[in-house]
Amino acid sequence: MKILVTAGPTREPIDPVRFISNRSSGKMGYSIAAAARQKGHSVILVSGPVAIKPPAGIKLLKVMTARDMLSAVKENVQKCDALVMAAAVSDWRPAVYCRQKLKKTRMPEFIRLKPNPDILMSLARQKGTKIFVGFAAETNDLKAEPLRKLRQKRLDLIVANNVIKSGSGFESDTNRVTFYFAGGEQEELPLMTKEKIARRIVEWIEQKELCRVMSSV
Ligand code: C5P
Repeated sequence: MKILVTAGPTREPIDPVRFISNRSSGKMGYSIAAAARQKGHSVILVSGPVAIKPPAGIKLLKVMTARDMLSAVKENVQKCDALVMAAAVSDWRPAVYCRQKLKKTRMPEFIRLKPNPDILMSLARQKGTKIFVGFAAETNDLKAEPLRKLRQKRLDLIVANNVIKSGSGFESDTNRVTFYFAGGEQEELPLMTKEKIARRIVEWIEQKELCRVMSSV
């Protein structure tokens, strides 16, 4: 299969030296890219700025902002069978970019923000038979919110995790996740390494694709 994976945070510049971003390390997305490659799939990894070495044998596209990520995903998704959006896309960006470094002595009282495009939402109409997997990083509501995102973003699977629980979420090597499937089923996994969770996601994608191919013959 051809699998497109996104990973890491996006960075939204305020001026040439400052930005807003989030704590995503990229570990989950890079583990998925590595697991898919190990299973022999062709992988395109669209990555925000992270400090991890990309897995060998994949095509890496480095991006900075949410809008860069949207362009890279749009350019590549058509030729793919599956999209895994593991990136923590910044929901907002500064409404105004200052070309000159803002002076310390002239502190802006406010930084006005505007919403970034939602990458998955903007692809929903082109989904067709492609498999779409999303992530939901939550701090409290671990069911209703992921389920809302699953439906609203027309996903086949959403992987929900509590990002403030110990051993889970941003920067950690392990994660505690629940899978919510479009068919209504759910699967709560114990604390696991991100590599192991990545293999489970790739195996599920393979199964889903197999079912699709079998039902179309
Ligand atoms: O940020 P949110 O909780 O809505 O993220 C849920 C899913 O949507 C994630 O898979 C994320 O990568 C994706 N997303 C997106 N475009 C955004 C924000 C999030 O595709 N602007």
